[in-house]
Amino acid sequence: MLSRDDVFTELGIGPVWRLRETPASPPSAPAYTWDTLADAVARCTACKLSATRTQGVLGVGDRNADWLIIGEAPGADEDAKGEPFVGRAGQLLNKIIVAMKLTREEVYIANILKCRPPQNRDPLPAEVECCEAYLRSQIKLIQPKYICALGRVAAHWLLKTDAPLGTLRTGNYTYEGIPVVVTYHPAALLRNPAFKVPCWEDMKKLMALLENAG
Ligand code: SF4
Repeated sequence: MLSRDDVFTELGIGPVWRLRETPASPPSAPAYTWDTLADAVARCTACKLSATRTQGVLGVGDRNADWLIIGEAPGADEDAKGEPFVGRAGQLLNKIIVAMKLTREEVYIANILKCRPPQNRDPLPAEVECCEAYLRSQIKLIQPKYICALGRVAAHWLLKTDAPLGTLRTGNYTYEGIPVVVTYHPAALLRNPAFKVPCWEDMKKLMALLENAG
C-alpha cells in the first residue's frame, strides 16, 4: 500500500508539507536533596563520560555558602580524588580564596560537568545538556548570594552566550537573579601568568560585592 508521501511523490507534488513535531519539553530536574543528588551523580550513566570516569565529582565546600564557584569539569586529579579543583589549578584557586580572606571550606566549588572528559577536552554540548540538571539543583540547594564563573565554559553556560571571556569579564550579569562575576580559569592563569592581574581585578570586584552585602 502506498504511503501518503508515496502518493504525493507519484503526483509530482513536493516538497510534502508536514506538521512540525512539537519539541519535547526538557525534563524538569527532580527535587533533589543533597543525599539524593550525590547518589544520582554517583550512579549516573546519562552520557558516555560515565564509561571513562573513575567517579562522579559533585562538589565541595559549605552547602550554605554565600559564594558559589563554578568551573568546567573534573581533571585527572579530581577524577581520582572525587573532589573538584585539587590539582595545580585547585591549589592556585585556594590561594586566590585565601587572598580574599576566605577559606575553601567557606565557599562551595562545583563544575558544570560531574565526570572527567577524556584528555581534559572541552565538554561537548550534549554532555552539558545531560549534566546541567545536577548543577541547577546544587544552585537551588545552596542559594548562593554570588556566583563566580571560572573560565569560558562556565561563563557561557551561566550566561547563555558565546561572547569572548575578555568581554564577559567586564560586564554585569545575573543568573536567575544571582549576580555573576566572570574571570579566568586557574588553569589559564597557570598557562598564562599575565592573566593573574586581571583575575585579581575580578576578585576585587567580587570582594566589593561581598562586603556591600554585609
Ligand atoms: S557527566 Fe554528568 S550526565 Fe554525564 S555521566 Fe557524568 S554525571 Fe551523568
